[in-house]
Amino acid sequence: MAVACGVPCTLVIVAPRYHPHVHVLVIGAGVFGTWTARWLRRRGASVTLVDQYGPGNSLASSGDESRVTRSAHGPDEHYPLWQRHSLRQWCELDPTLFVPTGVLWFASREDGFEADSAVTLERMGIASERLDADELAHRWPQIRTDGFTWALYEPDAGALMARRGVASAARAFADEGGEVRIGLGRVSGETVTVNDEPVRADAVVFAAGSWLPKLLGPVPALEISVPQQEIIYFATPPGDDRFDAGQHPTWVDYDGSFYGIPSIERRGFKVAPDWPGPMVDPDRQERRLSDERVDVARDYLRRHFPAMAAQPVSEGRVCQYELTADTHFIIDRHPSLPHAWIVGGGSGHGYKHGPAVGEYLSALVMEDAVAAATLAPPDDRFALRPRVSSLGMRTAGVAPGPG
Ligand SMILES: Cc1cc2nc3c(=O)[nH]c(=O)nc-3n(C[C@H](O)[C@H](O)[C@H](O)COP(=O)(O)OP(=O)(O)OC[C@H]3O[C@@H](n4cnc5c(N)ncnc54)[C@H](O)[C@@H]3O)c2cc1C
Repeated sequence: MAVACGVPCTLVIVAPRYHPHVHVLVIGAGVFGTWTARWLRRRGASVTLVDQYGPGNSLASSGDESRVTRSAHGPDEHYPLWQRHSLRQWCELDPTLFVPTGVLWFASREDGFEADSAVTLERMGIASERLDADELAHRWPQIRTDGFTWALYEPDAGALMARRGVASAARAFADEGGEVRIGLGRVSGETVTVNDEPVRADAVVFAAGSWLPKLLGPVPALEISVPQQEIIYFATPPGDDRFDAGQHPTWVDYDGSFYGIPSIERRGFKVAPDWPGPMVDPDRQERRLSDERVDVARDYLRRHFPAMAAQPVSEGRVCQYELTADTHFIIDRHPSLPHAWIVGGGSGHGYKHGPAVGEYLSALVMEDAVAAATLAPPDDRFALRPRVSSLGMRTAGVAPGPG
């Protein structure tokens, strides 16, 4: 069992094989493309990573300040394994990327996501605590628990520094001999171009996040919707550190479709109303917070974090999800382009898994069946296949009703 940042992990990295003559082009330097490029390089390929705006840019889904990393995924055991395997790699890359705030799941029923997660985490030997409302109020008196009967607390979970994490992974990839370029990838028939120049590569990975439909055009079973999402940072009260990392956990209200992260690096208390906004074009959307989302976020603060309710917005991030119908990622071959792979559909929970996604996909691309098998899910969740809408791996994703 390996341990990094205090996180026990049961997956073992398989020693890479060396493939000196294989050249792979990766289009898209978000968290999935960057870690795939890095892992392809580690497996010995010569790799070019191309992004139209550069790694960690603010239009990408990976471009916000922070992202939640948590093991709880309801009854699912595969994502917790990948999450812990990935967290170890984030910490190896740079221990300051992980902020160990813990993650607190508010619960109001015994048959929901939190109860399923508690059973799964216990079975997997992952630390968690069940807190009743009194214990919750005792530990974090700044939280008003109205409506929550209990909470699941994951002490080993927390937040990842997102934009900085992608930039660090891209730097590490370049230091390891990879090539990072700014360029616009296009596909025309079987020809792939970067800035209108045809590219010769033995394999191509399309990791374009919410741009995948635009880049690839119609592909059977590649269905990704791109709704706008808004993240609101509220300034913490002057002279009051109760809402800072170290004093306050990251929190998720799965059924209520809200989550948030305490103030890290003095950026403010982050609140995310987590249901899909209008569909957008990620190149064209004006990234301004809407009054509607600021108001619902403030209303939520009023109910559960009253000392924050009158605080001003300190900043905001407007970005977009790349949602599959069932919120499982897509990691599969392109059905008609030879030696081409598609990775995406992070569906609001992909960031934390970037290292495992990259390690797994790189093994598939390099035809390293043993390495791929150690990371493979127990089902076809990542395949390009027709998907049925289902309750998400993120939050319930439904706008709250009035009141
Ligand atoms: C509001 C919000 C909150 C989230 N919260 C969490 C969370 O708490 N925890 C978590 O784990 N995950 C979370 N996620 C999900 C996670 O951030 C995404 O799933 C993940 O970042 C997607 O990474 P990606 O690499 O697929 O896409 P992106 O990060 O969008 O990267 C795609 C890249 O491709 C580039 N590109 C596109 N087209 C081209 C082209 N033609 N040529 C060249 N380059 C191109 C873009 O410039 C971009 O840099 C959240 C997402 C959002 C939007």
